[in-house]
Amino acid sequence: MKKDTKIIASGRKPEWTRGAVNPAVVRASTVVFDSVSDMKKATAQRHNKTLFYGRRGTTTAFAFQDAMNELEGGVGCALYPSGTAAISGALLSFLQAGDHLLMVDSVYEPTRDLCDGLLSRYGIETTYYDPMIGEGIKALIQPNTKIIYLESPGSITMEVQDVPGICRVAKAHGVMTMLDNTWASPVNLQPFALGIDVSIQAATKYVVGHSDVMLGTATTTAEYWDQLRENSYLLGQCTSPDDLYLALRGLRTLGVRMRQHQSNAMQVAQWLESRSDVDHIRHPAFASCPGHEFFERDYLGANGLFSFVLKQGNAEGIKAMLDGMQHFKIGFSWGGFESLILGHTPEHVAHLRSATSWQAHGPLIRLHIGLEDPEDLIADLDAGLARLAQCN
Ligand SMILES: *Cc1c(COP(=O)(O)O)cnc(C)c1O
Repeated sequence: MKKDTKIIASGRKPEWTRGAVNPAVVRASTVVFDSVSDMKKATAQRHNKTLFYGRRGTTTAFAFQDAMNELEGGVGCALYPSGTAAISGALLSFLQAGDHLLMVDSVYEPTRDLCDGLLSRYGIETTYYDPMIGEGIKALIQPNTKIIYLESPGSITMEVQDVPGICRVAKAHGVMTMLDNTWASPVNLQPFALGIDVSIQAATKYVVGHSDVMLGTATTTAEYWDQLRENSYLLGQCTSPDDLYLALRGLRTLGVRMRQHQSNAMQVAQWLESRSDVDHIRHPAFASCPGHEFFERDYLGANGLFSFVLKQGNAEGIKAMLDGMQHFKIGFSWGGFESLILGHTPEHVAHLRSATSWQAHGPLIRLHIGLEDPEDLIADLDAGLARLAQCN
């Protein structure tokens, strides 16, 4: 099946949809059984998409889990109430005191804070590595290295990693790999085909696609599914069927949304690239983005999220630019239908890195290009960059 067909077909088993196009929203804490022996049967099958107790999920969750497995190519999918919960839930399911974790330096900031805070207190040591390290990761593996964690492209600075190269080294050393695969969504990178063991999604972003639900997933292979599922269960992780219903509804339009985000973002990025005040574009489809060759080799498409670096500008200029935007809203997250903008001084980007140093002189602006007409977005940015320049 091709990507678009899979997006429509995934997770729509008759057991979950019962004759409708979409699965019902099945709300439950208690599940009641007809007899003691039925309860025993359900208990024996509780890992296996059987109604058992609300925390194990209902048919709405089973439909969404099936859809994510089918799209990402995994065997099991654990659900979490946010992307951040998926990250901490996956890491805590496999790490123990004394373990060593290799963490990409361009990682999402809360993941870094988790490593430096809670994981460090639990006796887990983290070493950050250069996102462009590739097979050179070999030199950083210690006898107690348990997990190599990747995020590709990196948060804010967008470095694309050599995912299969790192996975090859990890496999040769018996080290597990986890990938924050949110940027690709479940359809633009096939993590398990490239050798990843756990693929994490902030489904909050493009899967939900409408900025109205927090949701996370960690999808994995047969080898790791039992351990991930049972530990996530013990951590009490569960998700609302209403949220899962919205995620399934969002998922059905993922293909068309991603293509439109990608094409709008390309138009805006090309316009930015032609400006004399722009130093370079950090969009995986542009040669100026570190790891562009890995994007070309491994990814099936892009989306609306990218950054660009200006030649100059100060904090006051960033404020003047952002405060006056008409279509771009100031806000965290991304992946919804609306355009968003964030501005970072070089000092702020540098403070998010520890294994590498951030060399740019000018501010970095991160954009999420929504589904508005790109000509309106370009006019908005043109006026904003003029406000920024006035503060130089
Ligand atoms: C937003 C984001 C997360 C966290 O997702 P939440 O649902 O907001 O907790 C994790 N990783 C990446 C790359 C993100 O952009």
